[in-house]
Amino acid sequence: MDTNKFDSEVLTVNKFFNMYCSGNKHENSIFRNVKLKFKDKTYDYEIKLCDKCFETVSYSHNRLIDCPQEIKPKCRSCKNPCYDKDKWKAVAKVMRYSGVRLGLTKIKSKIKSIFL
Ligand SMILES: [Zn+2]
Repeated sequence: MDTNKFDSEVLTVNKFFNMYCSGNKHENSIFRNVKLKFKDKTYDYEIKLCDKCFETVSYSHNRLIDCPQEIKPKCRSCKNPCYDKDKWKAVAKVMRYSGVRLGLTKIKSKIKSIFL
């Protein structure tokens, strides 16, 4: 995965989590600065999430950072899925929730490229 792809995947994941967390009115959501290191570059992101969503999104970030595939396949068709089952379910739920609400073809194809 190249650095541009990495950045855009993280931004998409963040957007979906933000929408899910605020849409469900989770309590104690706060702005958080996230620094991610990928291929010797550091990326800064700001997300507003509750503790639980933040924990899940951080897990997703780490899975992206650790993705060993040079050209990242759709996670669902990956030969070595790296998500554990519970986390996968939690993330899939967020993606479904926000994907339905966004309802944009462009976003839909994005979700597909990441998760389906
Ligand atoms: Zn939340």
